[in-house]
Amino acid sequence: MDLKDKIALVTGASRGIGKAIALELAVRGAIVTGTSTTQEGAADVTAMLKPHGGHGVVLNVTDAAACDALIDSLGQAGGVAILVNNAGITRDNLSMRMKDDEWDSVIDTNLKSVFRLSRAVMKPMMKARWGRIINITSVVGSSGNPGQANYAASKAGVAGMSRALARELGSRNVTVNCVAPGFIETDMTKALDENQTAALLGQIPLGRFGSAADIAHAVSFLASPSAAYITGITLHVNGGMYL
Ligand code: NAD
Repeated sequence: MDLKDKIALVTGASRGIGKAIALELAVRGAIVTGTSTTQEGAADVTAMLKPHGGHGVVLNVTDAAACDALIDSLGQAGGVAILVNNAGITRDNLSMRMKDDEWDSVIDTNLKSVFRLSRAVMKPMMKARWGRIINITSVVGSSGNPGQANYAASKAGVAGMSRALARELGSRNVTVNCVAPGFIETDMTKALDENQTAALLGQIPLGRFGSAADIAHAVSFLASPSAAYITGITLHVNGGMYL
């Protein structure tokens, strides 16, 4: 229970990696608010977190007013101590065909919202002299991937932004780190055919795709007292992919 009573906010907690992160932090004692874009998803998150004192809420991370309102309401409850920016989307297209709205929606969701939520929690974290901001990036942010210029830019942007925030907030005992998943079995990656699956597995020295729990364990480590002296890093959790 090394996160006992810490207030945590996890975006995109109704499925996949975010769901595993929210549950892992809750099991380790944090009071977790997990977000979903739908009422139904928020109800599922509440059902999952309620036994551990947490709950689900509806949030679109691109809605600035809604983000501020949520951070304010959590401020009344003691303030967010652990922020996990997990929500993310892909809108793939080869660059020569990529439309502005495909670019903008990915950058807004994956990069701008991460900055905005981080900015909203940093003042109370600095005041409390304790905080953990953990951003979920991607192996694609460093390796690139055809058809994902928007996604790669958003994830590389988050990594750079996180290093800047780590420098800004370190003197107040607020750490800022990224976890970069490789290929994790979730809704985001389920559309692969047999050939694509075989080709990808061939690039992973550990010989399997990752699970959402693999990412959740890395996040809960970075949130824990054991990671007190780690800031500004990207922890790659990818089975050795692209090494
Ligand atoms: P997923 O599609 O299963 O889940 C994404 C979550 O983000 C969902 O809960 C969704 O509702 C939420 N979301 C999307 N747009 C949102 C918005 N505007 N506001 C609020 N929430 C929103 O995907 P996943 O695989 O669980 O991905 C989670 C994170 O991990 C993402 O940031 C993704 O880029 C990253 N990632 C995933 C993989 C992988 O292999 N699955 C690899 C690298 C990085």
